[in-house]
Amino acid sequence: MSVSGLPPYDDANIFARILRGEIPCKRVHDDAHALAFHDINPQAPVHVLVIPKGRYVSIADFGASATEAEITGFWRAVASVAKDLGLEAGGYRVLTNMGEDGGQEVPHFHVHIFGGRRIGRMVP
Ligand code: 5GP
Repeated sequence: MSVSGLPPYDDANIFARILRGEIPCKRVHDDAHALAFHDINPQAPVHVLVIPKGRYVSIADFGASATEAEITGFWRAVASVAKDLGLEAGGYRVLTNMGEDGGQEVPHFHVHIFGGRRIGRMVP
């Protein structure tokens, strides 16, 4: 088990394959610590995923195991992507799903950025 209670990192997961360039993506940002690309099944006019370059299963794994440079670089990239997509004026939502109860489907830590419309309150 990984630190988060999820299975260990699986190099065959879809985001690992995107990072290796084996599967195409609509990239919006790429730097030393983060890759951002449009979600294949958007739930808002703007729906972008931001993933760290390192092999982290979830936010728990990332928070416990990533270096400070990775963590800082990742979160700077999240804010930068939202700004570059023109979302700062109207606002946006950042969300991460963790584990089974959180509804996480892809076991590589990622955050969703939703924007372009009033997102509304989230009710589980
Ligand atoms: P999760 O439920 O794990 O937080 O979200 C996974 C997200 O990845 C979903 O919103 C899903 O639409 C997206 N996704 C799954 N496979 C692909 C893919 O091959 N390419 C892209 N761009 N997004 C994907």
